[in-house]
Amino acid sequence: METNKHPGDEVPPETAQSGKLPCGTCQGSGVKDGKPCPNCGGTGEITVLVGDA
Ligand SMILES: [Zn+2]
Repeated sequence: METNKHPGDEVPPETAQSGKLPCGTCQGSGVKDGKPCPNCGGTGEITVLVGDA
């Protein structure tokens, strides 16, 4: 099954207990060097596993 996971994501967006953080590569802008950020796929945020701490 295809997911919306981007290179910078730790886990697929549909993962339980995941959260969004600003992408460090594009500083959350979604644009890197005038092009959609390859790390976050142009969304400006990455999905990380936050757990239940
Ligand atoms: Zn980015």
